[in-house]
Amino acid sequence: MAKQIATNITWHAGHVEREQRNELLKQRGATIWFTGLSACGKSTIAFTLEHALVEQRGHLSYVLDGDNIRHGLNKNLGFSPEDRNENIRRIGEVAKLFADAGVLTCTSFISPYRVDRDQARKIHEEAGLPFIEVFVKASVETCEQRDPKGLYKKARAGEIPEFTGVSAPYEEPLNAEIVLETEELSVEQSAQVVLNYLVEQGLLREA
Ligand code: ADP
Repeated sequence: MAKQIATNITWHAGHVEREQRNELLKQRGATIWFTGLSACGKSTIAFTLEHALVEQRGHLSYVLDGDNIRHGLNKNLGFSPEDRNENIRRIGEVAKLFADAGVLTCTSFISPYRVDRDQARKIHEEAGLPFIEVFVKASVETCEQRDPKGLYKKARAGEIPEFTGVSAPYEEPLNAEIVLETEELSVEQSAQVVLNYLVEQGLLREA
């Protein structure tokens, strides 16, 4: 857990309620947290969902993508357990801000440790914001066959240390809201499963 370092700081509440933002956007802000092995399909499914929400349904959605965030906000972090922990802590906080702003926020990070994902869930729950954990499931063998960036190949050749599924652990979710069996579902079907869930949960109002 990150320690509070600054002192003499006070929370300044705004004049616009979350409910007003939700009313404006005709949706409830939420975090849709995709987790799973590298190449299991997190980003592909998250971007397909984002596109469906924006183009087909007229809703505001945005993907916080693992590699993209490591180009900016988290460019100073690597893949050691401590850095992975800090990576996910920051993403949890950013996703919470986006969700509070009213955005249907999709996060696409391996996020291999249960304790880190649970911490992201906790800060959302404490803030009264929906947190939907989506386990994008595929075996290491399947991911290794997909391997769109050739990372498993490099990892097997010993060129990438601490690679999840090969030389670093992945702790499967125990109570994910949604499990996507990507060896049985197409990308579009997986995105549709999540979209249906958002509708069922009453997060999308008709515009
Ligand atoms: P991650 O974000 O989990 O690292 P990516 O989305 O970058 O994974 O890559 C997954 C790759 O697997 C993509 O090239 C995608 O097209 C492919 N793929 C093949 N079948 C599926 C499926 N059923 N579901 C998700 N992705 C799939």
